[in-house]
Amino acid sequence: MEDFRDRSKEISGPGRPALSVLTDLVFPRRCPVCDRPVRNTEGLSGALICPECEPLLHRVAAPVCRRCGKPLRSARQDLCGDCRVRQHVYDRGSAVFTYHSAAGSLFRFKYGSRQEYGSYFGKCMALRLRETAWLFRELPDFLVPVPLSDRKMRKRGYNQAEILAREMARYTKIPVRTDVLRRVEDTLPMKNMDVSARQNNLKKAFHASGNDVELNSIMLIDDIYTTGATIDACALALYRKGARRVCFMTLAVGEDNHAEF
Ligand SMILES: [Zn+2]
Ligand SMILES: [Zn+2]
Repeated sequence: MEDFRDRSKEISGPGRPALSVLTDLVFPRRCPVCDRPVRNTEGLSGALICPECEPLLHRVAAPVCRRCGKPLRSARQDLCGDCRVRQHVYDRGSAVFTYHSAAGSLFRFKYGSRQEYGSYFGKCMALRLRETAWLFRELPDFLVPVPLSDRKMRKRGYNQAEILAREMARYTKIPVRTDVLRRVEDTLPMKNMDVSARQNNLKKAFHASGNDVELNSIMLIDDIYTTGATIDACALALYRKGARRVCFMTLAVGEDNHAEF
């Protein structure tokens, strides 16, 4: 805890290199919500989102599930319906936005070459990590983006999870490691699979390597958390290599599918 307090002071924001300020003037940064160039209301400090668009992204507010971070309907609950139905491999996790409010932005970020949204998203995730320090109890030793298969990486040209992790790292100073987890198999499209089929399919998909995993606390980074099957599969591979603790942080989180009405 002492460690977190010392290092959390650093989550205030890096200086902006002169070149990126210049780039913003020539190629204005697009707003993650409306996709229009952001008006530079803050002078040269570089706004990342329109002030009027920011409230349209809904932040996950307390009470949240203490395992997966999904919003809860009642503060009397401890776990969401999904986590009561299913045991998870990872230790715990947290997210910034509700999926329904961020879906359009996420789609363009992931499939529409809007990597520039990552600056705003990564900053939000770094702040969320500080806000949810009570949940994680310690800062991770490193951030590990959920990897894409080689084929998907070639097709898309970038891994949106890695962009998020690298932007988070600028604020938190926690190192990013992309060499400890590999997606070894191009898994079948999972859209029409049920949860257990997804889990079985994914279990074989991730492979952890390297001595650095052992005894370390790792935070997986991804864009969306829905069933947790992907995060669990990554966590399983990392725990098998001796990771001490595997948590996660995502930009958005889906709804509780087993909520009690
Ligand atoms: Zn906007
Ligand atoms: Zn949960």
